[in-house]
Amino acid sequence: MNEMEVSMANVEDRNDLPTKPIPEPTLRRLPLYYQYLKKVRDEHRGDFISCTQIGNDLSILPIQVRKDLGIAEAVGKPKLGYSIDELISIIETFLGWNNTKDAYLIGVGHLGTALLGFERFKEYGLNIIAAFDIDKEKIGETIHGVKVFHLGKLHDMVKRMGIKIGILTVPAPPAQELTDEMVRAGIQAIWNFSPVKVNVPPGIIVQHENLASSLVVLAKKLTLARQNQS
Ligand code: NAD
Repeated sequence: MNEMEVSMANVEDRNDLPTKPIPEPTLRRLPLYYQYLKKVRDEHRGDFISCTQIGNDLSILPIQVRKDLGIAEAVGKPKLGYSIDELISIIETFLGWNNTKDAYLIGVGHLGTALLGFERFKEYGLNIIAAFDIDKEKIGETIHGVKVFHLGKLHDMVKRMGIKIGILTVPAPPAQELTDEMVRAGIQAIWNFSPVKVNVPPGIIVQHENLASSLVVLAKKLTLARQNQS
């Protein structure tokens, strides 16, 4: 998974959208600006930056950069551009990254374990604080610093801790049932890695992830690039 693409919202899948939807491409570009701005800040290249400079360095049209930053409610100063520190903090606030959210993960297999090991989720506002499984070998273990509980504890722990985000990394068969259980317990957003397009009631957010579909896009781009070369 490309860490730049860790987007916590998919416009199509969200049914709690505010009145003015935020374009998904903007949501995907904002993390790019964020990482870039942090790099620029660390290199002490100055206090202000223009859309042209950001656009040139990231190969994005400056007018697009201006639009995206406008959506995040950033305002530049005439002739100076945007304050780099301010812009970083505005993007953090806009994406909710300055307000780290606790999450539970269900299914500590290959993928679940890999996600537990990805420490940089915290930088994107996500903190996985517990995991659940039905495999006796895993229950009670601590994996990458996260304790694995029996699935039977999920409901009570979601309620008690007020957890709002669930990450689903189980095989297809139990995916819908586990989704229903999470929603009953109070989970409001599900990051679903299982191959099932799970159904949720109105008001619950689901982000379906699919590495295979990204691979299809990659393969298609490669084919087109080869055709253009020949
Ligand atoms: P895995 O078999 O290694 O792990 C699955 C884990 O889920 C196991 O620990 C198992 O004990 C647990 N589990 C099974 N039923 C459960 C239940 N009812 N409650 C709680 N835990 C349960 O599988 P994996 O390779 O980690 O893949 C996990 C899922 O992620 C699969 O559905 C797979 O298709 C999917 N996957 C998706 C992507 C993607 O791009 N979205 C990529 C890889 C894998």
